[in-house]
Amino acid sequence: MAEREVLHIKGRVLAGPQDVADELWVVGGRITYDRPAAEADATITGWTLPGLVDAHCHVGLDAHGAVDRATTEKQALEERAAGTLLARDAGSPSDTRWIDDREDLPKIIRAGRHIARTRRYIRNYAHEIEPGVLTAYVRQEARRGDGWVKLVGDWIDREVGDLTACWPKDALSEAIAAAHEEGARVTAHCFAEDSLADLVEAGIDCIEHATGLTDETIPLFAGRGVAIVPTLVNIATFPALAVGGETKFPRWAVHLRRLHARRYETVRNAYDAGIAIYAGTDAGGSLAHGLVGEEVAELVKAGLPAEAALSAATWGARGWLGRDGLTEGAAADLVVYDADPREDVRVLAAPRRIVLRGTVVG
Ligand SMILES: [Zn+2]
Repeated sequence: MAEREVLHIKGRVLAGPQDVADELWVVGGRITYDRPAAEADATITGWTLPGLVDAHCHVGLDAHGAVDRATTEKQALEERAAGTLLARDAGSPSDTRWIDDREDLPKIIRAGRHIARTRRYIRNYAHEIEPGVLTAYVRQEARRGDGWVKLVGDWIDREVGDLTACWPKDALSEAIAAAHEEGARVTAHCFAEDSLADLVEAGIDCIEHATGLTDETIPLFAGRGVAIVPTLVNIATFPALAVGGETKFPRWAVHLRRLHARRYETVRNAYDAGIAIYAGTDAGGSLAHGLVGEEVAELVKAGLPAEAALSAATWGARGWLGRDGLTEGAAADLVVYDADPREDVRVLAAPRRIVLRGTVVG
């Protein structure tokens, strides 16, 4: 491997919400706060954050299902250009394991392939199965992934004409216990209200979207330590989805509009109750990649303090996923901005410099 540059990063290094340093160095691709003997090859000045985390996106997937390697690479590079250097892939039918060997692409934490009830999800995305084999599929995807399993917890039920819960509680309890035995955490896609209590009581670790949280379920999540990834940039598409489906499913359309109308209040109430919130965009299905900065801005709009919204895409998210931030000896994955993101998180939209594994990539 070629010898890597020594970089000097100075200005304000935001290693944590209350942990600010004046400078750090990158030596051999790793972070150090001790000035090296060697002269720096380059100096970058600005406000530095750990590489951003998109805690819910999909790589190797588009609106129709799995995509080829060239398209997958393009998606990963779009994330990188936005400063997303760590992605939690919330379900993909593609085998993207090859990305792990690419030093120039963001790191990915996979949840295997989505597990959905038969005909209760987007075509070509999921293993579509019945509750009797849920545990077996959860074990299989736990072994394929990187510590997460993704369920589809609710979806439109065409006979009912509305969102309904997909799984009986006893099947969930057995399957989630099996995932935990395999060393994996479990998360579920949930838009509506009625699947949430069962999933939490069955031991789930996280809920994606979570637009259906109410005054009844918020304390349950807070009490059990269940995190949420609201994906507000995706929830913004609910009104358009409602227009598209309302002739066939009027009840569903009304339901989506109601969930959308109270989305900021839901996230704010969850935050106030102490529920852990992480920034995810849901890019890769129908949404473009590279929107994590917009999602952080949406979290602020919902009422999170700037530090909390930043933490949801940096320090907090990295800790939750078991990955290093800007700590001594960690791989140098960082993003430098022109201005203080704590003053205005919208600076995340325009990184000045992006450093991945110690190499300047943007
Ligand atoms: Zn998703």
